[in-house]
Amino acid sequence: MYEFAEKVNQSMSSVISVLFALGMMVTKNDFLSKDEIEILAEEFEVEVVTVNPLDELVVADDYDVEEDEEAVERPPVITIMGHVDHGKTSLLDRIRTSKVADKEAGGITQHVGAYQVEKNGKKITFVDTPGHAAFTEMRARGAQATDIVIIVVAADDGVMPQTKEAISHTKAAGVPMIVAINKMDKESANPDNVKSQLSELGVMATDWGGEHEFVPVSAHSGMGIDALLETILLQAEVMELKANPTRSAKATVVEASVAKGFGPVANVIIKTGTLRIGDNVVVGNTYGRIKAIKLDDGSNVKEILPSTPAAIVGLNAVPKAGDELVVMDTDKEVRELAEKRAEYDRAKVLSKTTKATIDDLSALIAEGQLKSLPVIIKADVQGSLEAIKGSLEKLRNDEVKVNIIHEGVGGVTESDLTLADASEHAIVLGFNVRPTGAVKKKSKELGIEIRSYAVIYDLLDEVKALLGGMMSPVISEEVTGQADVRETFIVGKVGTIAGCKVSDGSISRNAKARLIRDGIVIYESKISSLKRFNEDAKEVKNGYECGIMIENFNDIKEGDVIETYKDVEEQVTL
Ligand code: GDP
Repeated sequence: MYEFAEKVNQSMSSVISVLFALGMMVTKNDFLSKDEIEILAEEFEVEVVTVNPLDELVVADDYDVEEDEEAVERPPVITIMGHVDHGKTSLLDRIRTSKVADKEAGGITQHVGAYQVEKNGKKITFVDTPGHAAFTEMRARGAQATDIVIIVVAADDGVMPQTKEAISHTKAAGVPMIVAINKMDKESANPDNVKSQLSELGVMATDWGGEHEFVPVSAHSGMGIDALLETILLQAEVMELKANPTRSAKATVVEASVAKGFGPVANVIIKTGTLRIGDNVVVGNTYGRIKAIKLDDGSNVKEILPSTPAAIVGLNAVPKAGDELVVMDTDKEVRELAEKRAEYDRAKVLSKTTKATIDDLSALIAEGQLKSLPVIIKADVQGSLEAIKGSLEKLRNDEVKVNIIHEGVGGVTESDLTLADASEHAIVLGFNVRPTGAVKKKSKELGIEIRSYAVIYDLLDEVKALLGGMMSPVISEEVTGQADVRETFIVGKVGTIAGCKVSDGSISRNAKARLIRDGIVIYESKISSLKRFNEDAKEVKNGYECGIMIENFNDIKEGDVIETYKDVEEQVTL
């Protein structure tokens, strides 16, 4: 804001008062929106051209591999995902020990965040951190390091919640997937069960007429590993993955840390070009000159080609996973760009969040800028989830449709928020579930709106209205406080008293209240008793301990959360 005032030769206070008159409260350090700037420009009769400040921070590149005649085939980069204990790590280990790219028996000695194996004379790169959390964190930062995802499902266990999550995350990223049915050595293995469960999720095996390859494997016996690698190579061939090794390099950071004696070390995978010792690089908001490049076999090399994973040394600080590494001509360029980016990041933290709220979304839809509304649905039970899903899928008008990127039974998780964060303009819709603690905090940090409903029609009405692009949602209640249940006391005829600590807002006597367990609303009524040190209290504020009883409800357990709220009458206008 203050920069705008300076540029147009106006005092800060006159800028603030113009906006204030229009009902917008801004302070000196806030970023102005494009609309606000346009209004101001008119008011002060100056001409403005808005440029996205980020454009300046991006190293411009309208390069298209398709048209690059020097582009040659590159190895595929693979990430393994799936439910916990289905064998992701075992599979990575098995592939690594059986097919190390290198001739020597020593094999892989160095952890560089990914490793390469060789099959039929071709290389394949495997990212070493399995799981969708890391995958989507990176995507949220704009990096797509993975070409193909392997979904591991244990043949004796079938599809589990994280299998579903992994599939949603992969689909949202638009990356092709291959299913590895693991633990085939087990007597209880039932691969057909896995196939039918996955077909219900729309992931159909090729031998059932679908488009996904299913490969039965055993990380223990080694069965099927060759077939899996061959399937990967076939898929890669179809994708015609290419890169130009003669360009200057670009790479994606998969992990980074400080190593004793080396300083910051970044584990990267080269996307295109050749990275050489001596190159000046900018990586997110860090920079430096490449001093050493170490491969997964522990050897030091002078240069690396596309899809090669390596640890690089020479940065001034530790970058973040998902940051992009770009080579520039001079050390001055990389330093200046890194410093500008760091400054932007600091300003952004200070300023308001830039994520879409429901209001912004409805404006975008009204303007016709949003053609599909990505939503994540979480509900307390399968029945309501199906009902909501069915109705939402039918809900669409000519311009906009609802795109369900993930759905699940249970409370909203941090992983849901990461997925929403990586998907532009996504919102999280909850039915009988409420965010608490870490999830609530993360949603605030990321600026992602979680809308919770207790009546299915309310949810549908609101989405309908949103699709119509015509109104802000009606806010019918305001959360006044949350308290964590630390312990419970059962007192004779009185009932269960929950020993709590207020974690947000404040708790008032007689307030309407709901009990939340694992993110799911268990019961709604009101606070019937509120005590501090055995004394009745009217209100207990954030950070303080208290004893709470809920009217007509005694099944309170340690770890539950009590949320209080009040109805508001406010009706938002068109
Ligand atoms: P992750 O959580 O998905 O990384 O799973 P792990 O790789 O840690 O494996 C979980 C458990 O399953 C471990 O006890 C493994 O020994 C076992 N396991 C993994 N793969 C196989 C397999 O192919 N066959 C059998 N019988 N057990 C397996």
